[in-house]
Amino acid sequence: MKDKVTDISLAERVSRIKPSATLAIDAKAKKIQAQGGDIINLGVGEPDFDTPDSIKAAAVKAIKDGHTKYTAVSGVPELKKAICNKYMRDNQLEYEAKNIIASNGAKQAIYNLIQVLINPNDEVIIPSPYWVSYPDIVALAEGHTVTIKTTLEKHYKITAEQLSNAINDKTKLLILNSPSNPTGMSYTKEELQALGEVLRENPHVYILSDDIYEHIVWSPNNYCNILNVCPELKERTILINGVSKAYAMTGWRIGYAAGSETIIKAMNKIQSQSTSSPNSIAQYAAIEALNGDQQCIKDMVKKFKARHDFVLQGLEKISGIQYTANHGTFYTFPDCSDLIQSHKAFNNDIELAEFLLSKAGIAIVPGSAFGAPGCIRISYATNMEKLEDALKRMKTLLG
Ligand code: PMP
Ligand code: GLU
Repeated sequence: MKDKVTDISLAERVSRIKPSATLAIDAKAKKIQAQGGDIINLGVGEPDFDTPDSIKAAAVKAIKDGHTKYTAVSGVPELKKAICNKYMRDNQLEYEAKNIIASNGAKQAIYNLIQVLINPNDEVIIPSPYWVSYPDIVALAEGHTVTIKTTLEKHYKITAEQLSNAINDKTKLLILNSPSNPTGMSYTKEELQALGEVLRENPHVYILSDDIYEHIVWSPNNYCNILNVCPELKERTILINGVSKAYAMTGWRIGYAAGSETIIKAMNKIQSQSTSSPNSIAQYAAIEALNGDQQCIKDMVKKFKARHDFVLQGLEKISGIQYTANHGTFYTFPDCSDLIQSHKAFNNDIELAEFLLSKAGIAIVPGSAFGAPGCIRISYATNMEKLEDALKRMKTLLG
């Protein structure tokens, strides 16, 4: 593959993927802001809250204590212990240090896992709408993404029947993300049980459970992990999590995975030949996040819930937008198909996103990036003042 501008010859895998749409929109919004533009950034999914002071203090202490060197590739023993304790405390799941790897964000943990499991032409089932990076990470491993489409009416969740129909001999992995980015929906115990039954009948299918939003929930059912209802899937389920969302620590880059020793060892091998250990100082900050007072999460979730309600009230006033109340996260994923049909200024969700950015200074992510054209993702990880302003601007522009 030749770069058209520089004539430099790049590997074919570069053309197989696209840049992360969420990060690209964030970069665009920040660039306009830096040039003095009046932008309200509802694009990227990143808590606007500051990292709690106790966590920052642990990082300062780590520096003073000299924890500034390479660590074991999979993380320091204290961090793995904190992760095991977290699984016992929050999820009633038992893991040992050998079942844990810490990585540079959950994103690297997901990347490592896909590298470890997926051979060329293996199929990976991803319910859509999906988080933007899953299909591209699969493509880098030369796997095939098989999407299962979900709808707003069905609360963007797959059924056991849909899962069963999507599985064949080539299926290697199912990715579950509950609560979901971008939809904000989470699976109930009963729904997970039904999916688990299908998975039980298909022992060749592994499960990636991306639990990064597990704490940001307010649904009456609360959070449930597939392993809580189907413990027999434990050997072939890999849990992915991290401190980015729950503790407002996106920049610290600590994520982790829990799973069978064989898989974790293989992920460690990949990590040892790519990035080595995650940042030593951030690891100590993550230990404090996981071991310390968890009240900070409750405080943030309360605010996210209030913003969620406020955003939905605002969307209610704009015609042609359909939405459903979330179970958690800090995204809402309205269907704008009717709005798009009735407006001449834009023909699809990508043009709608561009229209909102250029005419109202509002950055959102088009649903196409998540495999759901016609929808948009609004991140409400932004203060109420800005949300109020954004919704006013949207109402004025869209009617
Ligand atoms: N999974 C999902 C569903 C996400 O939204 C994100 C957010 N970036 C990640 C994984 C990765 O998070 P991080 O790398 O910041 O830990
Ligand atoms: N997960 C966040 C989002 O979807 C952060 C950006 C990214 O890693 O893609 O906006």
